[in-house]
Amino acid sequence: MKLSVIGTGYLGATHAIAMAAVGHEVVGVDRDPRKIADLNAGRLPFYEPDVAELLLDRLEAGVLRFTTCLRQAAAFADMHFICVGTPQQLDGQAADLRQLDALVDDLLPMLRKGSVVVGKSTVPVGTAARLAARVESVGAQLVWNPEFLREGHALADTLHPDRIVVGLRGAAARAAMDDVYAPIVAAGTPVVVTDLATAELVKVAANSFLATKLSFVNMMARMCEAAGADVLDLTGALGFDRRIGDQYLQPGIGFGGGCLPKDIRAFAASAAELGVADVAELLGVVDAINTDSRRRAVRLARELCGGDLDGIRVAVLGAAFKPNSDDVRDSPALAVALAMHHEGAAVRVYDPEAMHNAKDRCPMLTYASSVPDACADADIVMHLTDWDEFAALQPAELATIVTHRRIVDGRCNLPAAVWRNAGWDYAAPGVGRSASATG
Ligand code: NAD
Repeated sequence: MKLSVIGTGYLGATHAIAMAAVGHEVVGVDRDPRKIADLNAGRLPFYEPDVAELLLDRLEAGVLRFTTCLRQAAAFADMHFICVGTPQQLDGQAADLRQLDALVDDLLPMLRKGSVVVGKSTVPVGTAARLAARVESVGAQLVWNPEFLREGHALADTLHPDRIVVGLRGAAARAAMDDVYAPIVAAGTPVVVTDLATAELVKVAANSFLATKLSFVNMMARMCEAAGADVLDLTGALGFDRRIGDQYLQPGIGFGGGCLPKDIRAFAASAAELGVADVAELLGVVDAINTDSRRRAVRLARELCGGDLDGIRVAVLGAAFKPNSDDVRDSPALAVALAMHHEGAAVRVYDPEAMHNAKDRCPMLTYASSVPDACADADIVMHLTDWDEFAALQPAELATIVTHRRIVDGRCNLPAAVWRNAGWDYAAPGVGRSASATG
């Protein structure tokens, strides 16, 4: 099939490349000429495992190209995936839909009768119905097909998703959706076909559930600290319960990124508008616990350093909001680093992939070129993004370059006993003093 993918950020670039990998001819469109030049030159504008290699391969195969010209894409394709951003409003909690609305304004007069517009961006419930009326007015169809990929696993999640959700009104677009995802469905992926509003809600429900699970665990971490218990033993035991499952049970400095925080806030705002106050109340608490989890790491650092961070040399390991990504949008690691900087600490940050984005976002921090560079003469080490590189650190080796052996494990996945046995003052949210945990 001939497809266009409009908005080639983290989601759209991955989707365009993946669609070209399963046999379609794809043109990717973005209004950012630098992104388009990079993509056409085979340079992925962000870090995501395995995607850059596939980009080159599909460009060379001649089935993928990128343009800033929407008209070219509209002339080429009969199916258009919309992947533009829906960030949080600058002055509120709700989603800012200006990118989406502006794109639909531009695309509408270019659409051919019978073509299909597939919304993948995350939107407040009701958006798709509003857009469907406009798209149908020119004889095309709108489908809502929310995306669940995780950054760091974006390609695998696109090619082998847990499920595909398709929201439709009327059956006309169903056949086109069956065709476009046929290779993925043939590999066993379940498809849920539903109405537009339910499809929109599945996405925000999934994100809200995951955020709630993470904040629940961080609430238990606080409880463990208050009660003198150990959160890692607790989550280990919880995880054996098949009704709960062992994923998204990691305590620490909480969630961040370009999706979860803004999606739960947008969901709370739209639920409040619809008069469903419970949603806003629950997600408000989830958000507050998450913010406090970041503050908790700073408090732990302060406690280890004798109550004051002023003048303390801090090595921050991690800037990306999660490992295997260079995305620093609403990154808990950078939030903690900034908070310590504001308390007068001298902060040096190192991340294996996110240095460029971190420097852009937080130019006031100092950046190091490696773990040893960040940790040289440090008074305290903050482990804030759980990259494999950091999990493999040898506490005895690191001890030779720091000034004080103090570490806050903001991801609760370093082996506490090993660090303590090597003479480090180790602290992690909810992790007991006697923890023998290996993470
Ligand atoms: P992003 O900001 O990285 O990408 C959005 C892109 O759209 C930008 O490159 C921007 O230049 C482009 N754009 C905006 N208006 C345009 C227009 N009129 N024409 C062409 N291009 C235009 O955002 P993202 O992280 O890729 O997220 C996109 C959407 O997907 C959001 O709604 C997000 O919530 C959702 N989503 C993202 C992820 C993820 O992991 N990043 C996962 C699931 C869903």
